[in-house]
Formats: sequence, structure tokens, C-alpha cells
Amino acid sequence: MRRPVICFLLLALFLTGCAAPTDPDTAQESIQVIAMDTAMLITTYGEHSVPAAYACEDTIRDLEKQLSRTDPDSEVSRLNNAGGEAVEVGEDLYFLLHEAACLSAETAGAFDLTVAPVVSAWGFAGGEEYRVPSQEELDRLLELVDYNAVYDRYIIPPTDPPKAAIGPGQAIDLGGVAKGYAADKIMEVLQEYEVPRANISLGGNVLVWGGRPDGTPWRVGVQDPARPEDKNAFAGVLALTDSFAVTSGGYQRYFEENGTRYHHIIDPATGYPADSGLTSVTVVADCHDKNAGSGDPYPGTMCDAFSTALFIMGEERALDFWKTWEGTPFELVLVTEDDRVIVTGGLADRFTLDESSGYAYETVS
Ligand code: ADP
Ligand code: MG
Repeated sequence: MRRPVICFLLLALFLTGCAAPTDPDTAQESIQVIAMDTAMLITTYGEHSVPAAYACEDTIRDLEKQLSRTDPDSEVSRLNNAGGEAVEVGEDLYFLLHEAACLSAETAGAFDLTVAPVVSAWGFAGGEEYRVPSQEELDRLLELVDYNAVYDRYIIPPTDPPKAAIGPGQAIDLGGVAKGYAADKIMEVLQEYEVPRANISLGGNVLVWGGRPDGTPWRVGVQDPARPEDKNAFAGVLALTDSFAVTSGGYQRYFEENGTRYHHIIDPATGYPADSGLTSVTVVADCHDKNAGSGDPYPGTMCDAFSTALFIMGEERALDFWKTWEGTPFELVLVTEDDRVIVTGGLADRFTLDESSGYAYETVS
């Protein structure tokens, strides 16, 4: 008598399996991508979640091929090795050069796309040993750091095919904006595949698209810069929908020599790793604030450049910059060396301090 019962149960299971409709809104794909020296996690939802996730990966890999400084065949390497001559570049690099030169000017050179020779001297460009360069070497290399030279030589109006040039001896490093720009382009992919919600984590660059499947905002942790080895140690958590959130901090890449820690965000004013009293800067902007043709920077690219620049500027200059900025709106979470977390007004009701972090909490408006 047991057999028919089992058959019945199996049949019931089979029928339930068949009958359960695949809900296009909760269908989900998550893929891990190692690119741009970063472990990335792409999670897309909706009917087209699978092809959408892989199209996001293609976008990242395609950009990496163009922008990498360690790949001698990348467009950036060809530009850096052209001895000041104009070279043909693809539309992405052409556009990004323009964006990065503008963002360099807007941050008064705190972000500077021509900082590459100094980044290389410290060994942060990849492929070289970490080392502390001599002051003479830094002085010599700092003469090449000048975003205006790119601005002046960069060829406008666009030629077909587009060409770009940098000054002789100069080199560019787009590491401070590449992931933000990738996130901007991923947003176009999400639109194209009609993805209703997604969480795209490109290391310190996060794009949250829509809200969570249950309708609540995504929770984006701000890593506690004092405990970088613990990926679940947060200074606090942001509740966000449709936003870019980009964090820069000295804890992300560094080496130690004779008891001193040297990190990868270089202050173009000194040639040394920035020492501004901040341990991390998170920049948040609405991802739909992309006003094509308005001259405003793409919001993901902007957040990425600003996180690097404001980390270099330090608390006072960063907050002044935030208060006086008239372009695409953005908000900030600053973590300071003296254990404070400063959150700008627009984020005050979206940030929750992690009480166990021990930070004092301040808001500014
Ligand atoms: P990450 O790329 O680690 O997420 P950032 O966005 O802050 O962090 O970018 C840091 C990278 O930007 C460095 O590894 C270097 O390639 C480049 N960089 C360092 N200092 C500057 C600077 N002052 N301006 C522009 N780019 C910089
Ligand atoms: Mg950056």
C-alpha cells in the first residue's frame, strides 16, 4: 500500500513544480566578476536578469580593455606611450578624457587625471614593486602633473575617428573614475534589458537600481575604515534606491615601510599619499541625474572622481566644496581619523550609524 502513496506524493511534487509560475519580477541572477583589480558582484532581477547580468560583465571587461594601465595594448597605454602625439581613441576614452579633465578642473586638481607618473613611482599602477620615491624624483614627476595640458591638447571638436593627445612625458590614470564610469554605462544596460531592480557592487562603487524585491530600499554598508579586514564591519548603513554610492579610503590599497603606512590616493599638491585627517569619503548621488547634453558630469563618474578628490581635500575643504557645488547634487559620508562620522543633510534620514563602531555622529547642512 505504500507505493501508490509515494507515487502520489511524487506526482503532487511534480505538478507543483510545473504549476509554480516563474515570477518575472523575482527572477534573479548573481554573478561575480574579477576585473579592474576588484572583486565585483552583479545582481540583476526580472525576466531578463540572466542576459542583463552578463551584458553588465561585458561592459566592464570591454572598458577594462580600453582603460587598463597594465595592459600595454589598451588605448590608455597607447596614449601614454605616444610621446605627446595624437592617437586614435574609441568613443569611451574620448568621452572619459573630457569628463576626467573637467572633473580635475572642478576639483581644482585634487583629482588630476595626469597624476599617473607619481602613482607609478609609488608602485600603485600595478606590475611594479611598492616603494617610497625620493623627494627629487617626486619633484621631477610632479612637473608632469597638469590636467590643463590635457585640456589644451585634447582634440575638440571631435574628429572622426576621435583622436586625443596628452603632453610629452605625461601619462594618464583613469583608475579613480573607471569604475564610476562603468557603473554609468551599466545603468544603460539595465535600462536596455528592462531590469526592474539591481544591485551592482564594483568594489567601493555601488549602484542600486530600484529598491529591494520587498519594496524597501537597498542597504549599502559604509565600510569601517578602521577595520578593513572585516568586510562586515561598518561605520553605518545607508538606505538607498536608484543611487550611486562610491567610497574612497586609504585602507583600500597600501603598503607599510619602517612603520609608516602609504596608501594609493596621491595628493597632487605634494606627490605623497593624502594625509587630510579623513579615513574615508562616500559620495552619494541619484543615478537618474544624468542630464545628457547638459555638460554636467555623469553621476557615477562624478561620484567616483569626487570620492577620490574630497578624500584628498579633507573635512573642511570637502564640506565647503559640497556647500558651494552647483552641478548635479550629491551628498557625503565622511569618516575622520578622530573617530567622527559626518553626514550631509540630504542623507541624514537615510544613514544609520553602527553603534558598535564607536564613532561619534554629526550631521551638517
Ligand atoms: P579605488 O579605485 O581603489 O576604488 P579611487 O576611486 O579613490 O579608489 O581611486 C584611486 C585610484 O585613482 C588610484 O589607485 C590611482 O590609480 C588613481 N589616483 C590616485 N590619486 C589620484 C588623484 N589625485 N587623482 C586622480 N586619480 C588618482
Ligand atoms: Mg574614485
